[in-house]
Amino acid sequence: MQTKINFNAGPAALPPEVLHDASKAVRKYANTGLSILELPHRGKEFLDIVEESKSLVKELCGIGDAYDVLWLQGGGRMQFCMIPMNFLPQNGSAGYIDSGHWAEEALEYATHYGDVQILASSKQDRYCHLPEWPGNIPDQLAYLHMTTNNTIYGTQYHHVPKTSMPLVADMSSDIFSLARDYSQYSLFYAAAQKNLGTAGLALVVIQKDLQDKIVRSLPPMLDYKAQVKENSILNTANVFGVYTSLLMLRWTKDKGLEAIEKGNRKKAHLLYTAIDNSPVFTAHVQYKAHRSLMNATFTANTPENEAAFLHLCDKNNIAGVKGHRSIGGFRVSMYNSVSVADVEFLAGLIEGFRG
Ligand SMILES: *Cc1c(COP(=O)(O)O)cnc(C)c1O
Repeated sequence: MQTKINFNAGPAALPPEVLHDASKAVRKYANTGLSILELPHRGKEFLDIVEESKSLVKELCGIGDAYDVLWLQGGGRMQFCMIPMNFLPQNGSAGYIDSGHWAEEALEYATHYGDVQILASSKQDRYCHLPEWPGNIPDQLAYLHMTTNNTIYGTQYHHVPKTSMPLVADMSSDIFSLARDYSQYSLFYAAAQKNLGTAGLALVVIQKDLQDKIVRSLPPMLDYKAQVKENSILNTANVFGVYTSLLMLRWTKDKGLEAIEKGNRKKAHLLYTAIDNSPVFTAHVQYKAHRSLMNATFTANTPENEAAFLHLCDKNNIAGVKGHRSIGGFRVSMYNSVSVADVEFLAGLIEGFRG
């Protein structure tokens, strides 16, 4: 079976080098005589993996010792739970920006723990643009939660205004995709299966100061401070997941953030240009400044053309271009691992397609 060109939204494409090294480690990890799947989670080898991954995260984010780095299980959604559990008091309020499906799910989870104020939303426009950034944010809010890239609708914050309150961000689908001031966030997290490795795991970066503001007593698995104290190895860690993320971090550092951003801009330009010039396809996000570099969403002018283009992609060995069930049409995910050549190929098919 030929390897497919993979535009899936997550689990997403991984670089061939990372897949190669991960599979090698499944056979034998370094000179341990064990598979990575058999490696003890409290042994020196895994501790080295955790330490290297933490220092690479800090280096890539340009943040220092004011932050702790965690690898937590339960993917992105577990963070939707842990953030309000830890920081939203029962009688308090937290602010949420409703910029898409995941943002909305995060705020719904938070309503279990306290009051949620939706400070801005673009839901009424089917999230085809980013909501306007709230003008005056009430300062009694426990924190402000936002989603930097809206994976399902295809919008992305290329710039986030400074705010005086603790800013919490879901960066699941665009971490390390473009230059960003990570130090403006008190907490940011990313489910690993997009730019960082395999599903089930999340990277969480949390300011030390914030850990003193935990508002309720929690079992240690759900308590950020307890997880920091145990170095994310409170229970049996996801050794293979963390190792794969380390491989992704090394790959990211080798490429360099600048080169990655440049590649991402090139890919997005190729794809959106093909869509905008097409008589058949229409981009979901018309306002160019809000378009995501990671996920491009678009529709065809008729159901017949939609089916025919899906068939054409399939014939050309392309996987993962069908849109999310909530908006239909097409979604092409161009995460860091997806090559310019693969996007160029797809853009060529879009340009040539007349229905
Ligand atoms: C993929 C994604 C999630 C969900 O992650 P799970 O690991 O499936 O819970 C959350 N937020 C965003 C922005 C995503 O893209």
